Amino acid sequence: MSVKIEYHKFDVVVFGAGGAGLNAAQVASQYCSTAVISEVYPTRSHTISAQGGISAALGNLEEDHWHWHMFDTVKGSDYLADQDACEYMTKLAPQYIIELEHIGVPFSRTPEGKIAQRPFGGHTAEFGKRPVKRACYAADRTGHVMLQTLYEKAVAQKTQFFSEFYVLELLVNDGAVNGLLCWDIQNGGFHIFHAKAVVFASGGCCRIFKTNSNAHINTGDGLAVAMRKGFSWSDAEFIQFHPTGIYLAGNLITEGVRGEGGILLNANGERFMEKYAPTIKDLAPRDIVSRSMVKEVLAGRGVGPKKDHVLLKIDHIGAEAIMEKLPGIHELALVFAGVDCTKEPIPVMPTAHYQNGGIPTNYKTHVIKGFGSNPEETVPGFFAAGEIASASVHGANRLGTNSLLDLVVFGRTAGEEAAKYANSISFVPLAENAGQEGVELLQKFLNSNGENTFGPVYEELRTVMETNVGVFRTEELMTEAKEKLQVIKTKMDNFRVNDKSSIYNLELIEALELNNMILVSQALTECALLRKESRGGHAREDYPERDDANFLKHSEVTLDKDGNIVVGYRPVRMKPLTVEPFPVKPRVY
Ligand SMILES: Cc1cc2nc3c(=O)[nH]c(=O)nc-3n(C[C@H](O)[C@H](O)[C@H](O)COP(=O)(O)OP(=O)(O)OC[C@H]3O[C@@H](n4cnc5c(N)ncnc54)[C@H](O)[C@@H]3O)c2cc1C
Repeated sequence: MSVKIEYHKFDVVVFGAGGAGLNAAQVASQYCSTAVISEVYPTRSHTISAQGGISAALGNLEEDHWHWHMFDTVKGSDYLADQDACEYMTKLAPQYIIELEHIGVPFSRTPEGKIAQRPFGGHTAEFGKRPVKRACYAADRTGHVMLQTLYEKAVAQKTQFFSEFYVLELLVNDGAVNGLLCWDIQNGGFHIFHAKAVVFASGGCCRIFKTNSNAHINTGDGLAVAMRKGFSWSDAEFIQFHPTGIYLAGNLITEGVRGEGGILLNANGERFMEKYAPTIKDLAPRDIVSRSMVKEVLAGRGVGPKKDHVLLKIDHIGAEAIMEKLPGIHELALVFAGVDCTKEPIPVMPTAHYQNGGIPTNYKTHVIKGFGSNPEETVPGFFAAGEIASASVHGANRLGTNSLLDLVVFGRTAGEEAAKYANSISFVPLAENAGQEGVELLQKFLNSNGENTFGPVYEELRTVMETNVGVFRTEELMTEAKEKLQVIKTKMDNFRVNDKSSIYNLELIEALELNNMILVSQALTECALLRKESRGGHAREDYPERDDANFLKHSEVTLDKDGNIVVGYRPVRMKPLTVEPFPVKPRVY
């Protein structure tokens, strides 16, 4: 390769500076040299916008146990979660939350000074009997305070940050992961980070949907980069559609609003969740609430001139309570819906929110090889945590507040495991052609002079995904999506990036992200077509029942050597670490 590349060497390199990445980094930095690569300044990562809370069975306001939390997590996942990982996460949760408190996260408090807790969808006491207050929170800015605190902690531990560096390629030699190729967005130029261990913490992919709650960075780059090296994305078909996105805008209105007493109403003013989930009503898991909302609209009971949305009413808890506990929501509703929620209901519809699957790992965050090999076999030097990863605690549907917990528990575990691993081996040398693929990909787009540009192609992509692979899915719709995505893919061969400079060229980054989003969309659609059942976030009108006989298994999707999408399956780890497996029963709420 004639191109100039700058080389760096760190024991551990973390890809992503959200809650998972910063937590992994602040831990790893305590044991070995650690770098964090992020496309944006760390505190602009999507974790900053997490609102409602982080779960832990602290029992500060009423009796609670990690067993109940684990039960809810497994049941909420529609039994696709790996139960050893669920046990690991829910059992460690109380201890890790206290640790967060001790490093400075300013949680909201009860009058006695304990960490305050609120109810959240799907979290129950006594194995489903009644909602329980399990979500710890800092008003409606929980992710904000966590990210800031973890960033400070990482800086104090002398983590080295490479902000506005864009990851192009995962480096692998002789079966071991040993670094990343990046592009310096600010100054231009390629950099190779040679590492003993690489931690993926690059967040989710919901920007592929037209209506979504995610930040602009959530384009699934980590998934695409991993799949190009033959590593898999597990349970790709399970996207979480959060019920309460602001109508037309998609911005999130936290489930904490319903936790604080908010209710959903149809055009007749009926609290329709009483019909769909008689026990926990508006606090049923997100997949159930989203589908119920769509059903109301399809039945002609939607609100507005187009009868295409429903209402979220919260004014009855009083303006004072709203301004104390949900100030950010008040502002969001005012700015994006023009509604003062202390007086009027907020117009809402489901919004693509979370990628339930991810790069498969065991409960210690070591990435699993997958595809026919022993399901326990891991990839040397490769770790993953946070939304990009799948341990798997979310299975087919994540419970609210379990993602921030995932960042805290698995982010920390990834930091510990990566450091331990790095301290036990020497550097695996870089392959002769290390970085060549990524360099060529970037140069292809930088030099491109074709007809298609970002705006129209992205619009087409996200519209197809929303219309054809959305809340309700069918064979027909998804087959059409597959064909359309193939056409969209070919548009990238006739693409144009107008900006030819190498300094802060965001048009170039958009092109690379779009290229990744197309691959991610194709992989997701393929898995969704093959899963002929309804489970969690994957609802098929043509296969409305859950089919445990044929589909109680994780899907895995990747690219083969010729660049074709291939799909395989892996068994669910049904055995917890210490307690007996749960019996598999249909979900009734
Ligand atoms: C609006 C909203 C509210 C939420 N509220 C809650 C809540 O109350 N409770 C809860 O439990 N969960 C909540 N979630 C979910 C949760 O916040 C996210 O799943 C979680 O924060 C993801 O964290 P992460 O560390 O995995 O990734 P992110 O925070 O998304 O960070 C990803 C990182 O990867 C980097 N990156 C990505 N691509 C590249 C690239 N190519 N090169 C370099 N860097 C790259 C980015 O720069 C960024 O630093 C919410 C999510 C949203 C969107």
